[in-house]
Amino acid sequence: MQTKGSVKLEVFDSHMHTYNSLDGGQTVDELCESAIEKGLTGAAVTDHVDMWFYNDENTEERIKKCISQVNTAREKYENRLKLFQGVEMAEYLYSPKEADIIMNLTDYDVILGSVHSVFYEDWTDSYSRLPFGAETTGMKKITGFMSEYFTKVTEMAEKTDIDVLSHLTCPLRYINGKFNRDMDISLFNKEIEYILSVIIERKIALEVNTSGINTAFNEFMPGYDIVKKYYDMGGRLITIGSDAHISSNIGNGFYEAAEMLKDIGFECYNYYEKRISREVSFDV
Ligand SMILES: [Zn+2]
Ligand SMILES: [Zn+2]
Repeated sequence: MQTKGSVKLEVFDSHMHTYNSLDGGQTVDELCESAIEKGLTGAAVTDHVDMWFYNDENTEERIKKCISQVNTAREKYENRLKLFQGVEMAEYLYSPKEADIIMNLTDYDVILGSVHSVFYEDWTDSYSRLPFGAETTGMKKITGFMSEYFTKVTEMAEKTDIDVLSHLTCPLRYINGKFNRDMDISLFNKEIEYILSVIIERKIALEVNTSGINTAFNEFMPGYDIVKKYYDMGGRLITIGSDAHISSNIGNGFYEAAEMLKDIGFECYNYYEKRISREVSFDV
């Protein structure tokens, strides 16, 4: 249990990375110790599986290592932290056969579904590395890229076996946050509404990703308007994830996320255990 002023919150962080993600900067032990120190109740380890880079990034071996380390840590931290085995599947449909190998490695608690890379014109890298800020990159190209991004998210939401749709609108973190391009996401309201309708129908949770909070971007992914739209459309399954790659970011932005969710009307949020959603009440 965490306490901030008069507000108490049970924190279940459903999205975190370790050294078993190539860009991770903490061990499973460091993650657990920091989570306990910060008063978290539950933590999911969700290392990267990016299908575009499946072989280059030694994916199967990394995830096997992650699974073994989480199993050891589960015993070590028993009674102090609920530790969950997750995985973050990106570009799942790019190579479904290999994705299935990962899906069958263990009995996961939670499967996150993400889009990190989109082929668009001459852009063939993860969008975290695209030159959205270059003088030669016009808004037309960025808008076209975002349209393709939403197409890929739609296909993933419709066709893959995931529990959580992660960081919807994440390219904005770079386009608007890093490069100040001021992209108006409401241009894609129709596409976003359709994606929300698909996840509601398929009982896939929407993640409120807090990794942009306290950075130059300083917004949730997705932001208030989209989370509210999801609620108004009847969506109630919602997870919160810090997407922490280092210990200090674990549980980041949970109070702010809880405030937003309560303001919209949510009475609880969710975490997953053995791929079944559980409720965490805001009213503790
Ligand atoms: Zn991600
Ligand atoms: Zn992540």
